[in-house]
Amino acid sequence: MNKLKLFIFLVCLVICSACHSEIDHNHVGLKGKDGVVKGQNPESEADNKASKANPKYRDLQESQKTEFEMSQENNELVSPNIEKTVYLTFDDGPTSATTDILDTLHQFNAKATFFMLEPSMRELPKVVDKIVEEGHAVGLHGVTHDKNQFYQSAQSALEEMTTAQKTLLDITGIRSNLIRTPYGSVPYLSESYRQVLDSNGFKLWDWNVDSSDWSLSNDEYVDTVISQIEELVNAGVAPIILMHDIPNTASHLSILLTYLSKHGFQTKIIEENLQPYNFNCYQRCH
Ligand SMILES: [Zn+2]
Repeated sequence: MNKLKLFIFLVCLVICSACHSEIDHNHVGLKGKDGVVKGQNPESEADNKASKANPKYRDLQESQKTEFEMSQENNELVSPNIEKTVYLTFDDGPTSATTDILDTLHQFNAKATFFMLEPSMRELPKVVDKIVEEGHAVGLHGVTHDKNQFYQSAQSALEEMTTAQKTLLDITGIRSNLIRTPYGSVPYLSESYRQVLDSNGFKLWDWNVDSSDWSLSNDEYVDTVISQIEELVNAGVAPIILMHDIPNTASHLSILLTYLSKHGFQTKIIEENLQPYNFNCYQRCH
């Protein structure tokens, strides 16, 4: 008899337990529906539950977070939020090296400004056209590149630039007022020369980064440029880099452009409406 009571008790226990489990299950389902109505995100709730229940899932989340954080760190190097402008300028062209320079610039989607000599433009008009077609800016560097002739008088400086301006106009249809005088404006360009050029609409541009590419061998000029860029950027100044259309500069230009790209620089052309950058005379001009 006692055995029968014990059996009935056990059967009741099993049935009650089964009922309780069913109620609990329904209860969870309702809670889920309530959650949606209240505007909670059921997916994030599920994520949280899965995360708590499954250590592997948590590990996965951690690793994803780490990867995201790593990508954020990497992005800081090329962050578009901190746009840094750099002006690449090439003097003394066009030459046989100019096409290689253009190809490398194209490869990096970089833009530059070319200050060209009048006889060289006449010699290589197709290269001048190519410079323009590829979206670069064109400026004038005079005719003789001889300091004794160019700086002989205000009139000689003006005539060289006017002659170069006309040749560029004939070749490309572009009338450029951008000029860079041979060897830069200091010390040869006196105040009266400046006034004459200015009153004829020319906009004089010097540079604040001297690559010394004409005197250095192999890729040495790239390190020289980079160290000057870093100083200027720390001072909040946009670098204007002087380079030349010479084979060694063309051969190693990709190293400089790789650096600029990795460090979030954007290359821009010099436009006519920009405020020109000039060396300060500090009474050195004569
Ligand atoms: Zn020059």
